[in-house]
Amino acid sequence: MSRVFNFSPGPAALPEEVLAQLRDEMLDWHGEGMSVMEMSHRGKPFGSIAQQAEADLRELLSIPSDYKVLFLQGGATAQFAAIPFNLTRPDSVADYINTGAWSKKAIGEAKRYCKVNVAADAAADNYSSIPDRAGWRLTPGAAYVHYTPNETIGGVEFLSVPDVGDVPLVADMSSTILSRPIDVGRFGVIYAGAQKNIGPAGLAVVIVRDDLLGRARPDTPTVFDWTAMAADGSMLNTPASYSWYVAGAVFQWIKRQGGLEAMARLNGAKAERLYAAIDGSGFYRNPVRPDCRSWMNVPFVLPSADLDKPFLEGARAEGLVALAGHRSVGGMRASIYNAMPMAGVEALVGYMQDFQQKHG
Ligand SMILES: *Cc1c(COP(=O)(O)O)cnc(C)c1O
Repeated sequence: MSRVFNFSPGPAALPEEVLAQLRDEMLDWHGEGMSVMEMSHRGKPFGSIAQQAEADLRELLSIPSDYKVLFLQGGATAQFAAIPFNLTRPDSVADYINTGAWSKKAIGEAKRYCKVNVAADAAADNYSSIPDRAGWRLTPGAAYVHYTPNETIGGVEFLSVPDVGDVPLVADMSSTILSRPIDVGRFGVIYAGAQKNIGPAGLAVVIVRDDLLGRARPDTPTVFDWTAMAADGSMLNTPASYSWYVAGAVFQWIKRQGGLEAMARLNGAKAERLYAAIDGSGFYRNPVRPDCRSWMNVPFVLPSADLDKPFLEGARAEGLVALAGHRSVGGMRASIYNAMPMAGVEALVGYMQDFQQKHG
């Protein structure tokens, strides 16, 4: 068996230790004589798995007791619609901050259900920075303010939480959740598709403050209704039970690494190493303003697009895969989520230096 260093933006690498645990427990989970995939979600064994996963996530993120944690289906994209369904009426205004591709998708979906005010837009500098908070044109009494703390495609990240006063702050944390400690109390709603830093694709984790429940529109599809889901422990329908179990195994792994402080130290060091290698090369270039650079997704370009193919082929031969940039932007992108060890970043930097020597 030979495992590669997988720089995929998502579905992304999982910790090898977690994959080995899943393998060991595949045929017989804790003496039950069956896989978690085959268990009733109503039974005691799965109940304990689900509860433990929630408890571990609460511990990792220090989630206050007045927040519900939901394990839902449809990824982050389903939540793009669920948010307006749960927090608006058709004539409500919701403020959105547009920092790139994923903000845009959230905006496009919300527009189908409520009035959207794009309160700030980074278009002027081609989404290579975060619009200064002082220039945001927020709506007084808006239903919520939505932003994307980490733009997975553009590699732009908010390095602090914006202050929006009493209006609920809603954050798409798909590609940054669990990368470092956060103050959950600053948010009304946090949501994340699982396939970057949590587990398998299709699962979404939603963390919602209690006072924001009970507001769903009467025509909200039941599986999108946070209040109904919270009342049933995310088991109003059959949950994505195996994905939930994998997420729980990842939470346990993070705890064994030392929790989110340890993740932050590792992720900060990985990002610093890679950006320093890019900036110092005089060959590779990252287009993002240095104070908005993502810790998780590091896009970079070579001096000529003609070098992209040889770069990717050479990388693959070294066991460094999934480095192609998003089809909308080209170039390269290294996604270095929690499961990417420093050794993977070191191997990438070493390869980048060799490639530059040959082609620079
Ligand atoms: C990947 C991603 C999504 C989409 O997740 P799906 O599970 O495909 O719906 C949304 N937002 C961000 C920031 C992402 O990185």
